[in-house]
Amino acid sequence: MNKQILESVITLTDNKDIDSVGISLLSTIAEYVYFEKACLYELERSWPNPAINVILELKVQSEEPHFVWHANQRLDTPAMQLVTSIDSLKRSVTENRNGKTELWVPVTGAECKLALHLVAEDITSENKSLISAFARIYGNYLRVLVESEKDKLTGLLNRHSYERHLRQMLAKQAHRQKKLQQEIPQRASHPEDKPWLVIIDIDHFKKVNDVFGHVCGDEVLLTLSQKMAGYFRSSDYVFRFGGEEFVIIMEPATRSDAFKKLNDFRKDVEEDRFPLVGKITVSVGFAEASQEEYEQVLMERADKALYYAKEHGRNAVFCYEQLVEEGRLREQTKAVEDSDIDLF
Ligand code: GH3
Ligand code: MG
Ligand code: MG
Repeated sequence: MNKQILESVITLTDNKDIDSVGISLLSTIAEYVYFEKACLYELERSWPNPAINVILELKVQSEEPHFVWHANQRLDTPAMQLVTSIDSLKRSVTENRNGKTELWVPVTGAECKLALHLVAEDITSENKSLISAFARIYGNYLRVLVESEKDKLTGLLNRHSYERHLRQMLAKQAHRQKKLQQEIPQRASHPEDKPWLVIIDIDHFKKVNDVFGHVCGDEVLLTLSQKMAGYFRSSDYVFRFGGEEFVIIMEPATRSDAFKKLNDFRKDVEEDRFPLVGKITVSVGFAEASQEEYEQVLMERADKALYYAKEHGRNAVFCYEQLVEEGRLREQTKAVEDSDIDLF
């Protein structure tokens, strides 16, 4: 028994991909407990507008055991009990209407609010303790992995975690669209709310370094990063992509709402006084984060809009799709190698 548990811990922590560790956790628990359903929930937003993300769900269909996985489903109007259970950070056991045992285990250690939820015929107290221990190991390990996804200077997400977060946002969008398709088919074929890929680049940053020195330059990067982290929603992903370039994967919004949000940010930066250096400005390019296109194409489109801003006076926000519609840019349909974004 002990040897088996040790093997399980080794398997759980033998994985550097955050999403796979969650899969590993639920599969590991399935080896010890016969359950109907196991779920990993994340509380994205608490009251008054709670939003819960089902990170992973494993259903075991009876008779002939058959595993069904679901991932990245957003519950926009979650049940109150669900929110309270995750928010409370307490382990609890209840019996549901069908006489089944429901176990809630908070996943502490991680920065976000996570909870593990199991529905089973019965769970022995020994197994409850084992599940709690696995949840703690998972939480601790997740904290290490989450830390490794951060940029050292600014604390924003780093470039290495970009692909994973883009995948996650696109999966959530695909799920949303599927739901919309079932509910309002005519809107689903032309969804107005789309996720956006944004590049923000500081204007003439080389001058800041030349005039005030690299240390002051770093201070500007830090102040701007804090401003971004406070300004954008926690469900938008903000990355320091390299040097003085930042990338944001923005939650679904209409084009005009996305523009307004980004332009308000640009104005905020323009009006702010930065310690030591005074004024700085930023240029912003953004493009639709469409599921149909290659990741590289999406980045190149946002980069083209950014380049357009740089070529047209800087301190401005441009949307790639709008520039194409207005004939100011040619459509980018496949990845090209001479993109202007600094890749390293
Ligand atoms: P543009 O308006 O066209 O973007 O001009 P720019 O000067 O901002 O752009 P360019 O890409 O030519 O220069 C970026 C500069 O950013 C070069 C480098 O000195 C500075 N930089 C890159 N990484 C860091 C960093 O980590 N700290 C500091 N202080 N400076 C950095
Ligand atoms: Mg720059
Ligand atoms: Mg740059």
